Amino acid sequence: MGKKRSQFEPAYLRLYESGELARRVERALAALADCALCPRDCHVNRQANEFAVCKTGRFARVSSFFPHFGEEDCLRGWAGSGTIFFAWCNLRCVFCQNYDVSWQGEGRETPPEELAEMMLHLQAAGCHNINFVTPEHVVPQILEALPLAIRGGLRLPLVYNTGAYDSEESIELMDGVVDIYMPDFKIWDAEMARRYLKAPNYPQAARRAIKAMHRQVGDLVLDEHGLALRGVLLRHLVMPGDIVGTREIMAWVAHELGPNTFVNLMTQYRPAGKVSRTEYVEINRRITDEEFASALASTQAAGLARGA
Ligand code: SF4
Repeated sequence: MGKKRSQFEPAYLRLYESGELARRVERALAALADCALCPRDCHVNRQANEFAVCKTGRFARVSSFFPHFGEEDCLRGWAGSGTIFFAWCNLRCVFCQNYDVSWQGEGRETPPEELAEMMLHLQAAGCHNINFVTPEHVVPQILEALPLAIRGGLRLPLVYNTGAYDSEESIELMDGVVDIYMPDFKIWDAEMARRYLKAPNYPQAARRAIKAMHRQVGDLVLDEHGLALRGVLLRHLVMPGDIVGTREIMAWVAHELGPNTFVNLMTQYRPAGKVSRTEYVEINRRITDEEFASALASTQAAGLARGA
């Protein structure tokens, strides 16, 4: 806490100067040829523009980029979080809160030069960080653009803003690249993950990925202005009827990552995506005050006191 921003250097600079970043780019792009970059293990050749669940071939698709003022205080500060929203997703959440982007792929194919320009544009706009939203399926494409952005003068910390359905390989590829990991730990139970995310191996994969993220960057460190510099910021969306297992997730976080973990319990759930009066009716409502109070109590009972 309270580290000076002037003394901060983003992790990726050292990797770039040592030549390791160039090797990572090569390794990541090679992995596209037989894609197992997320726990779906599709094994399609994305270099040849084949695609599977994430509908993304050789190049990333970006739906929008802008200074975002809706993120946590420690990310948005006074000038915004430099957000780049990727289209498509490797999860199939039936309640997706960004359905048009993640399920319908709203956006434009973006080669690495353009992705690098977006990062530099956001830095020039005064943003405090570059915030990659839904990056799980485009790790190679982000890595490919990064050296171009660094050559253009990029110096902001990178935020990896993920649904936590990440492979170990992807998190390894990002080791020393990402400063702030922001995983959203969505669901605890495999059967619930099958029903609502279409990914029964989600809980296991998320636990493994989040532990790897924490090993790399540790607890969240803020600068003298309260802005995030490095570490894990864990998110969790509270859902109707506690289909997500908030109590189990919070107990796991406290036990495995420690009580100093920064947690944002999100309350904004609204019925969206495939949720309607006839499908997934049990979550066709907002959460109640009692449900939020109970989620908060679970967090406190686990001993987690830091958060937004
Ligand atoms: S990144 Fe996409 S193609 Fe690769 S394994 Fe995941 S869902 Fe499948």
